Amino acid sequence: MSCEVDERVVDEVEALKAILMDELVVRTNESGYPVAVETVIFPSTADDAMQQYVRLTLEVELPTGYPDVVPTVSLRNPRGLDDSMIARIDRETKEKCESYRGQAVIYELIELVKEHLTASNLPCCQCAICLYGFREGDHFTKTQCYHYFHSHCLACHVTSSEKSYQEELDKLPAWLRVQQPQSPCQVLCPVCREPIKCDMELLSSAAPPLDVENARQFELSDELRSLQKQMATLFSYQKRRGGIIDPEAEDSKLLLVTDTPEQEPEDDPPGPSLLLPQHPLHQHNSTSGSMASSFPSRGDWRRGGRGGFRGRGSSSSHRNKHGRRHHQAAATSR
Ligand SMILES: [Zn+2]
Ligand SMILES: [Zn+2]
Repeated sequence: MSCEVDERVVDEVEALKAILMDELVVRTNESGYPVAVETVIFPSTADDAMQQYVRLTLEVELPTGYPDVVPTVSLRNPRGLDDSMIARIDRETKEKCESYRGQAVIYELIELVKEHLTASNLPCCQCAICLYGFREGDHFTKTQCYHYFHSHCLACHVTSSEKSYQEELDKLPAWLRVQQPQSPCQVLCPVCREPIKCDMELLSSAAPPLDVENARQFELSDELRSLQKQMATLFSYQKRRGGIIDPEAEDSKLLLVTDTPEQEPEDDPPGPSLLLPQHPLHQHNSTSGSMASSFPSRGDWRRGGRGGFRGRGSSSSHRNKHGRRHHQAAATSR
């Protein structure tokens, strides 16, 4: 594939290089002809990087025939911009490309994006730590990777990162701790995991975000209470069916298997720890039984109320027979 060299393109790219210098990345084909340009755009803040809260990477692919053919514009790595703003910039750059067909458009595109970034040079995203937005009066911090957090939230993140780092260090055997000189904790950005540097003194002096301060106290509503009741019933049902893993019971599992291999509990087992060694197998049988005959059998248990469950649990060796009898009764009664 050979591209005809269009002097207009070469001139345009040369001019851009002169303006943007090393901020412009030019991709060329084998013969050195430019096929795409890329640049990271910041808002105009008289080059004060501390005041730049948003940024965007603009990539313009120059197809064969550009500028008579419109270029393909991609917006990448947006920071501090919400989706609607990105969509708007995307739409307007496409319109610009159309209206500049036949003319150099790249510089126009850069200017257009820069204008938008300057107009929305305030993070309109959420703090990824507390999930609240940024309000006027909130202290926020921009990381080197252009992610935004309330200063207070980031301070909490740094503190907890350092704490868990120290906990990990403490877990190391003593000889390893001596061998490896302690490297300081490297805090990572909670969003992109890039290493970040923070001025902890500044961060921790910041007040908590206003939304967090004003958040309503948690209250137990009637709706929540009834949900709790439902969940409690479900929980005890799952527990009876061996569906809840009890860490304590898991720990003593081996002990039970060797000590009481055959013993059947006579009544409701006092706790899941007695259930576990034997329960799952029986459970499996009865489940497949009830699956085969579908739900009538479950209705029988229900009708039997708590006693029904107790009966089932108490004589697990007869349980299948009983269960089957139930099913048959249910089947014949229809
Ligand atoms: Zn926050
Ligand atoms: Zn980041």
